[in-house]
Amino acid sequence: MILATRLLLLLFLATFTNSISPSFLLAFDETMQSIKTGNITGVYYAAGSAVAKMHNRKLKEYNLRLIAEASEGSVSNIDDVANGLASFGIAQANALYFAKNGKHYWQDSPQDKLRSVLGLYTEAFTIVAAVDADINSLADLKGKTVNIGELGSTDSIQATSILKTVGLDLEKDLTISEKPTYEATELLQQGDIDAYFYTVGHPNLSIKEASHGDRKIMIVAPDQELIDSISQREDLVDMVIPIDYYTELANKEPIHSIGVKAILFCNSDADKEVVYHIVKEVFENFELFKQQHPAFANLTPEKLSTGLIVPLHPGAERYFKEAGLLR
Ligand code: GLU
Repeated sequence: MILATRLLLLLFLATFTNSISPSFLLAFDETMQSIKTGNITGVYYAAGSAVAKMHNRKLKEYNLRLIAEASEGSVSNIDDVANGLASFGIAQANALYFAKNGKHYWQDSPQDKLRSVLGLYTEAFTIVAAVDADINSLADLKGKTVNIGELGSTDSIQATSILKTVGLDLEKDLTISEKPTYEATELLQQGDIDAYFYTVGHPNLSIKEASHGDRKIMIVAPDQELIDSISQREDLVDMVIPIDYYTELANKEPIHSIGVKAILFCNSDADKEVVYHIVKEVFENFELFKQQHPAFANLTPEKLSTGLIVPLHPGAERYFKEAGLLR
C-alpha cells in the first residue's frame, strides 16, 4: 500500500515536473517482499537482513528485492505470514509448534498454512538481572519485580511456564511487569525492574547495551534440572551462552541455558521459485552468510535443513533434495 502510494507520487511528480529522470523511476520498478523479523537490536533483524543480502546479490536476475522488516517478533510474524500480510517471517521453533498445534496464543485455532524455509541459529532463554538485586538462581526471583514481556509474546509464555516449574506463583511471589521486551533494558537501568526474560541469539546488541549501563547486570543460569527436563522436547535443546562479547557482564563463565531454534518460514501459498532461490542463495554462499553475524558461527548445512517444526515448503524441499540434504 505504502509502496503503491510512493509510486503514484513519483509518477505524479514525473508527469508535472522534469526533475525526475526515467532511470530514477526504473529503480522503483521492482517487486519487493518482506521478511518480518524482530527488534533491530535483536538477532532476527540481522538474520533477515543476511538472508535478504544473499538473495539480493541476484536482484536483477530474480527481479525481486527482499527486505528485512523490524517487528514485534515471533507471534506477530506468525500472524502476519499466516494472514498473508507478509511473505516471510522468522520465529522461534516453540512458537511455530504452538501455532501449528493451536496452543497458547493460538489456543483452538491451529495454523495449518505455515511452511518452513530454513533453520537458522539457536536462541537462548536469557534471564537478565541487576547484580544489586542479588538473583543467583530462578528461585531468587521471589519478591522481585520481573518483566516477562507482553501478554501472548513468546517471552511471556516461556517466563510463565519457567516460573511455574520452579514453584513460583506469578500473582503472589513476584511483581510482574508486562512491557515489551525491547523496553526491558531501559526499565532495568532506570531501576523499574530487577530482572527480565528475553529469548534471543547471542551475542546481540541488546544485551551489550544493557551491560553498559550504570547498573551492573548478569545473566542468571536456569537450574540444571529444569534444563534437563525441558530439553527433552522436540522444539527445545540445551545450549551455552557465550560471554566474550559482553565485556561488562558480571558473569565470568559462559552460561548453560535452554535453546530454541530460530526458523525462517512462509505461507504455503508462497511462490515456489522465490523460496527455492532464497534457500539456494543461502546455501551457495554459506561462508559469506555465516560471516554476517557472530551468532551464525556454528551453523552447518544440516542445522539449516533439520528440526523445522512445520512442513517444508516445496521450494525449499526442491533445493534440499538437489543438494542431497533430503531424500
Ligand atoms: N525470540 C524473539 C521473538 O521471538 C526475537 C529475538 C530477536 O529479535 O532476535 O520475538
